[in-house]
This record gives sequence, C-alpha cells and structure tokens, in this order.
Amino acid sequence: MLGGIEAGGTKFVCAVGSGPGDLRAEVRFETTGPQETINRAIEFFKEQARGTTLDAVGIAAFGPLDPDPRSETFGFITSTPKQGWQNTDFAGVVQNALRVPVGFDTDVNGAALGEWRWGAAQGLENFIYLTIGTGIGGGGLINGELMHGLVHPEMGHIRIPHDREADPYAGLCPYHGDCLEGMASGPAIAGRWQEAAENLEPDHPAWQLQAHYLALALMNMTLTLSPQRIVLGGGVMRQRQLFPLIRKRMLELLNGYVQAPALLDNVDRFIVPPALGDQAGVLGALALAERALHAK
Ligand code: ADP
Ligand code: ZN
Repeated sequence: MLGGIEAGGTKFVCAVGSGPGDLRAEVRFETTGPQETINRAIEFFKEQARGTTLDAVGIAAFGPLDPDPRSETFGFITSTPKQGWQNTDFAGVVQNALRVPVGFDTDVNGAALGEWRWGAAQGLENFIYLTIGTGIGGGGLINGELMHGLVHPEMGHIRIPHDREADPYAGLCPYHGDCLEGMASGPAIAGRWQEAAENLEPDHPAWQLQAHYLALALMNMTLTLSPQRIVLGGGVMRQRQLFPLIRKRMLELLNGYVQAPALLDNVDRFIVPPALGDQAGVLGALALAERALHAK
C-alpha cells in the first residue's frame, strides 16, 4: 500500500492505494499553516496503516521546493510566496513520523510521473507535461528520470515573442510581466479579455491567440528537449478546441524543420490531453511513492 499527498496551495488531498483501480481511502482538507496541515496528512496515513503496512509515501507539492536528495534542504518547500511556508521541511517531517521512504517532487513532476505510469505517457522515456491553470508549470522525464537540475524546471516563465500591436495586454507575472504564464495562464486570459476564461465561447478570438502563444512555447520546448510527447493539462485545457489549434499552429511555426514521423504524421498523438482526469494529482503522488520505494 502506497500513500500519496497532493499538496496544493489551497487544498491537500491524501490517499492510499496502489493505482487508479485501487484507491482505498482519500481525504481532503484546506491548506493552512505547515505544521497543522502536514500533521493532518500524517494522522491520515497512521490511521490507514493500522492492520496493514504502508510501504512508501509520495508528496507532489506546490513550490518552489528542493527535490535533490543530495541536498541539505531536500524535501523542503523553499522560497514559496505562500504565507508561512517558506523554508519548511516537508518530506523530512513525514519520513520521521512514518518511517517509510518518501518521494518528494513538484506537483507537475508528480502529475507527469502519474501519466507516465498509468496515463497518456506510458512507455516514453522523454516527454513533457505542462499544466495551464492559475499558473503554468512544466515537468516530465528526460532519459527516464524526472527533470531536476539547478532546481526544477520552471517552464511557465519562459519568454515568448509578444507583438504589442496585435496584443497590447502587458501580462501579469509579478516577476516578468509578459512571460508565458503572464500571457497565457487562466488569470492572464481573464485579464486580457475582461471575462473569466471558462466563460469565453469556444469560437472567441481568445482561443486563436492562446493557441498561438502555447504553440510558440511548445515549439521552444520541443527544440530544446526533444520530447516524444507533450501532455497538456490544467483548467484552461478543458477548452478542447485548443488542441487542434495548437497542433496546427505548432507545425506551421516549425515549418518542416523537425523531420520526425511521431510529430509530422501523428501530431494528434504528439500533443495530447492527460488521461487520468481528476485523479491525476493524487495518482502522481502515488507514482512518486512507488518510485521512492524502488529507489530504496
Ligand atoms: P490550479 O491551476 O489552481 O490548480 P486549474 O488547473 O483548475 O487549477 O486552473 C484554474 C484556471 O483554469 C482558472 O484561471 C480558470 O479560469 C481556468 N479554467 C477552469 N476551467 C476552465 C474552462 N472550462 N475553460 C477555460 N478556463 C478554465
Ligand atoms: Zn514569469
């Protein structure tokens, strides 16, 4: 039995089980202070472990965080803007309380690993998972390993060309203004069009522009990382009409430069929605637990 914590900035979801067909218990609660919130998660696992064994726990968390097991601050939420959570030991506290291997990574790397294990990226050694929601985040695998390095990828904050005559919207990233997140997150769409993204009609011009910005970003990522697939999740991607628009625009922008059949002949399978739906977050955390168990 594995445990998973989907640690979001507004809510925590904890579950135990072994995969999508076997989620045995789940609890959700609001994210308050770190000590209180983390302790609630620990109590849940202690209860669930009565009479059975908990083998490992995975934590897929908001960040920024330290995912490097060799680092002194491994398992910490680091420089987060979330009040009270700066420099919080998370994985260490869980590990001390439960005495099992603990996997710890970003929420997007977790979601990516869940899609790799049970969803839309099975069998791939190199792929990107991008979430387009309140913010934009990216993660995935390179050569079969979760993407880490200096810290972890922050793909939402890359720069994309911005024609200020065609689109005068200044962008809303507090750090960069018109980076990708500043231009194409849900709140950015709402800021530009003065209407919540979910209320814009499927044929609203917002979606052409959105597809253009996302295609520019995916082109940069494809040229940089050479992924075998890109999975696009998050609230904004509920606008399913975006998928064909993004695929078409990205092929136009690449202009035949990358000669790969998986891209040119199968673009419908190159840029895809996630397969795990509402359970993606917590299943991602379970997948992190499984990986921690096998790395032991
Ligand atoms: P979060 O990123 O906070 O974890 P979501 O992935 O659900 O959560 O993203 C929330 C964002 O997605 C909001 O900005 C919201 O406006 C947008 N959103 C939610 N549903 C839709 C929809 N059906 N169409 C377009 N945008 C949506
Ligand atoms: Zn930014």
